[in-house]
Amino acid sequence: MAKFPLKYNEPVTISPLVIRVLADNGSYMTGPGTNTYLIGKKEIAVIDPGTGNNQHLNAIVDAAEASGKIKWIFVTHNHPDHSPGARPLQARTGAELFGLNPPEGIYQDYSFKPDRLLKHDEKLRTSEFTLQAIHTPGHASNHLCFLLEDENLLFTGDHIMQGSTVVIIPPYGHMGDYLKSLENLKSYKVDNLAPGHGQIMENPLDVINWYISHRLEREAKVVAALKRAGGQATIERILAPVYDDVPSFMHGVAAFSLEAHLIKLEEERKVVSSSGTWKLVSA
Ligand SMILES: [Zn+2]
Repeated sequence: MAKFPLKYNEPVTISPLVIRVLADNGSYMTGPGTNTYLIGKKEIAVIDPGTGNNQHLNAIVDAAEASGKIKWIFVTHNHPDHSPGARPLQARTGAELFGLNPPEGIYQDYSFKPDRLLKHDEKLRTSEFTLQAIHTPGHASNHLCFLLEDENLLFTGDHIMQGSTVVIIPPYGHMGDYLKSLENLKSYKVDNLAPGHGQIMENPLDVINWYISHRLEREAKVVAALKRAGGQATIERILAPVYDDVPSFMHGVAAFSLEAHLIKLEEERKVVSSSGTWKLVSA
């Protein structure tokens, strides 16, 4: 698939069934901004309506009404750049909300409550397309990817982004689950990835394998840094050496993913933690 222009709040046709509307909320966490996807011509499903910004909502409604009507709103997860637009968009269109409930905790948008909870592998069949929900916990415990079977196109939300890796914030982000969810995606027939941030990605298997190996390399750096620190250290002590390839302004965010790596190692009994210090079991 070709690269498509990154125009804010303008519909861009990316495949026979899919239009993308990019929100104007770009940042170092969101890349060019949040991608909202519209699927179908007459009866339309929207994936991730975005922040709730009015200009963006108007652009979504205008793009849909050029050919049909929004009937369904799907949300990949309850982070503030993906789901807050769901309820206002429902108020304007009467569409039904689909997704999973968020866990209680920080950094969640609680305005979004699905009308219908999706099950893992559940399919929505319409006269124009079939969309399958795939539960992919890791970035968030209620994260879903959506597979458009008619085009073998997988909407990945924040499970996979183009141009960067994904932050895993414990406890609702979970590194062990994240890696399992990546592995699980390999069993589906997918030709292209449509991420929540960035461009369409080809060769999904290569992308998924790179994501997995990148995390395992990072995990090896965590273990090596603990060894160099004498077998035990705090997150603050090993943050810079573990993320020496990442600009320092990102280290505050990277500390969350580092904690997620350490929790995974602790669950595998390779590390034990005690009052903020993480100790290698085999040291
Ligand atoms: Zn996001």
